[in-house]
Amino acid sequence: MYIVFEGIDGAGKSTQINLLKYWLEENGFDVETVVEPTDSKVGKLIREILQRPDATTDRIQKTLGLLFAADRMLIMDKLNDDSKVILSDRSFISSLAYQEPADWIKQINKYAKEPDLVLLLDVDVKTSVNRCSKKDEFENEEFLSKVKANYLDLISNFNHEIIDASTGVNKVSTDVKKAVAPYMGI
Ligand code: C5P
Repeated sequence: MYIVFEGIDGAGKSTQINLLKYWLEENGFDVETVVEPTDSKVGKLIREILQRPDATTDRIQKTLGLLFAADRMLIMDKLNDDSKVILSDRSFISSLAYQEPADWIKQINKYAKEPDLVLLLDVDVKTSVNRCSKKDEFENEEFLSKVKANYLDLISNFNHEIIDASTGVNKVSTDVKKAVAPYMGI
């Protein structure tokens, strides 16, 4: 089972993944977590490029699209391990939301694994920017508004649930568990 968390920066993906992991383990599941970008050399290069002042330009976005696809390929075996529940912080859907053009992103991710379930943590852009301590060039309202709109446009192509992530951590966690429970027979 490959469950992917998506959403703009500051939506609370990593917090919710940890809470869901704990709950699933309590219920006897073998859970593995994955974060994109990974801690591979490619992932480290991505994080370095994200700090560049020109990170949101078309040229660098396309470079990031390619690097994210390569980084994802490195963890393909892990994502294909059907004996575990894989909880992933982002997937190629992030690339569709952040990088352009969509056709090309789809092509370079042709071999990426399709998630069984996508949980889109939906938060308004102002909350997102306030939650992020300045980490990289992406965390500005204009760019994140575009990414949020892209997410809402494309999410219907996947088996998904949209979770209101502007409420408190516990309420969001309850909603996440409600969305996941039917898939796990809990
Ligand atoms: O999830 P996290 O905030 O750690 O993601 C790292 C950074 O990579 C974020 O700033 C996010 O906006 C960016 N990103 C991106 N393209 C992707 C996935 C993430 O630019 N496909």
